[in-house]
Amino acid sequence: MVSFQLSEEQEQMRKTAREFSRAEIRPVAAHYDETEQVPWPVLERASKLGLTTYRYPEKYGGGGIESLLTACVITEELSHGCAGIANTLLGCDTVAIPILLTGTESQKERWLPLFCDPNKVRLGAFALTEAEAGSDVAALRATAKRDGNFYILNGRKQYISFAGIADLYLVFAKVDGSEITAFLVEAGTPGLSVGNKEKKMGMRASQLCEVMLDDVRVPVQNRLGQEGQGFYVAMKTFEYNRPLISSLAIGVARAAYEYALTYAKQRVQFNRPIIANQAISFLLADMATNIEAARLLVWKAAWMIDQGLPANAAASMAKGYAADLAMQVTTDAVQILGGNGLMRDYPVEKWMRDAKILQIVEGTSQIQRMIISQLLAVPQT
Ligand SMILES: Cc1cc2nc3c(=O)[nH]c(=O)nc-3n(C[C@H](O)[C@H](O)[C@H](O)COP(=O)(O)OP(=O)(O)OC[C@H]3O[C@@H](n4cnc5c(N)ncnc54)[C@H](O)[C@@H]3O)c2cc1C
Repeated sequence: MVSFQLSEEQEQMRKTAREFSRAEIRPVAAHYDETEQVPWPVLERASKLGLTTYRYPEKYGGGGIESLLTACVITEELSHGCAGIANTLLGCDTVAIPILLTGTESQKERWLPLFCDPNKVRLGAFALTEAEAGSDVAALRATAKRDGNFYILNGRKQYISFAGIADLYLVFAKVDGSEITAFLVEAGTPGLSVGNKEKKMGMRASQLCEVMLDDVRVPVQNRLGQEGQGFYVAMKTFEYNRPLISSLAIGVARAAYEYALTYAKQRVQFNRPIIANQAISFLLADMATNIEAARLLVWKAAWMIDQGLPANAAASMAKGYAADLAMQVTTDAVQILGGNGLMRDYPVEKWMRDAKILQIVEGTSQIQRMIISQLLAVPQT
């Protein structure tokens, strides 16, 4: 049976996230965009409210709301305030989710309670991308060499979110030159260092740095999965995360649509509000329709993952569609605001910059289409 009715718990969580977003995120969004600082005060308040770790099992200190669909509902609301800040609020998931999805029980018991501590914000860094291995992750060159009860990691990672402020890194490297393997590396481990903060176009409240690995010794028990299972760890994480990143996109798109709608009703040219022109009202109609369509794709993908169904294609459809939609909606919102749309005194140019990032992270829009087309050739059961 198909139902679009959220449960009481989901409605309650949505309300909490919406109120938090209005009161704590939107008012400081321009500040963090301008300064590119880490929004620690927002993170701390969100953490105390349980808005960062509600989806982890209670036995590890999480909120026990283990539904990705609920997480998508919440993430859309937070991103409606600011996608960059909302992305930083997902900052523990980058490593805690792969541990939850693929870790051993003792790894979960060791790391997840640290991430779920409401009194200390802890972030993770998912270190996969390299200069020569972006979309083609299998081309990565970082190496891991076994040395007794340790591995020795060497290599360079680029564009790693939360590097420099993360407590735990998930580093992907090749054992014996071919077996992609995932390793948990604690911040402060000798040989792990971080480059300068990247200056980027959008989502500027979310920090990005290069990571250098020079003879980093990692205990064998910090290997996530078996040797050669790193690709699986990464793909399993992407499948789970893509609906969440899609929800960031919907939040941005909704913010831009609502702003443009209000503006179009108020802005008078040729003696009537600009919304009286079909050219403008049809743009707004398309925005509203496509946001609904994107949300349905996202909720379906999240629901499939919650049911334990194979959801690779659904997650890629949601991510590709939602990110492209956010780009289109924010671009049209700038158009509706005319010259004002380009000015930093108005929020829509920021939303347009944020949306562009979402077409690139967590697999570009082209890569989502590549995954969908490959899976269409081999239907999932
Ligand atoms: C804000 C931000 C945060 C990030 N955070 C992280 C992080 O936390 N951890 C991490 O590991 N990485 C992270 N990344 C890196 C990100 O995952 C990569 O930038 C992304 O996967 C694309 O890789 P690339 O930049 O090397 O582009 P490339 O792979 O070089 O792609 C360039 C262009 O070619 C296209 N293209 C490539 N191959 C194909 C193909 N087969 N068919 C069609 N088109 C193709 C792409 O779609 C793109 O348009 C982040 C990047 C950004 C911008």
